[in-house]
Amino acid sequence: MRKNIVAGNWKMNKTFPEGVELIQQIVNQADVVKNVELIIAPPFILTAEASKIIKDSAVKLGAQNCSNYKEGAYTGEISASMLKSVGTEYVILGHSERRKYFKETNEIINEKIKLNLEIGLKPIVCCGEVLAEREKEEHFQVVNKQIKEMFEGMNAENMKNIIIAYEPVWAIGTGKTATPEQAQQMHLFIREKIKNSYGSQIANDISILYGGSCKPSNAKELFANPDVDGGLIGGASLKASDFIEIAKSF
Ligand code: PEP
Repeated sequence: MRKNIVAGNWKMNKTFPEGVELIQQIVNQADVVKNVELIIAPPFILTAEASKIIKDSAVKLGAQNCSNYKEGAYTGEISASMLKSVGTEYVILGHSERRKYFKETNEIINEKIKLNLEIGLKPIVCCGEVLAEREKEEHFQVVNKQIKEMFEGMNAENMKNIIIAYEPVWAIGTGKTATPEQAQQMHLFIREKIKNSYGSQIANDISILYGGSCKPSNAKELFANPDVDGGLIGGASLKASDFIEIAKSF
């Protein structure tokens, strides 16, 4: 069964005490959210503490990234198994900021996806075009290539544990949101692509989230689309009431 999901990507925001406070606020308000998987992805320093705070709630724990190496001499990196060991269930992979500032390629993201699946974590895999590509009407082509290369070597069984997030880069943190029609068009395109590679059952069951300036005022019209199964939320996930309001938009 396809799940509705709202996931908060905190990015590099919140100190430890500020983060603890925000997690507590989210947990306190989470019981009004029905039929939606609510995920928070705070910075790494909060992961272990977040795991304790959300323990008896419906809130699930995610991370914003992890290494493409399993373990060893990779200074400054965090491994998938470290994340798993403190209760992480989901890991955002291939976010456009990772691609832009840290030069992540589809090949590196593919390695990360494989490692996460092997460890038992569920990747939230991001794709999406930049503004110039949308303006040249290359967005389908771009997303097609990203999906093909990031999911290289995956089988249908693997896809059962994967979530896709379509995040047009021109809409991330810009206040500019894709129209519901633009979102639906691309989500349907992605679902068709998954269907062609892995069959109708997998395509029907996979959750495809929209990300890019999603907020309480536009979440309802975005989530109303048949192929939009929720959101990956940046800015608006840093305020508990906005995050919960978005999750109530189904
Ligand atoms: C994101 O970074 O994944 C995102 C969607 O950010 P924002 O909601 O701030 O546009």
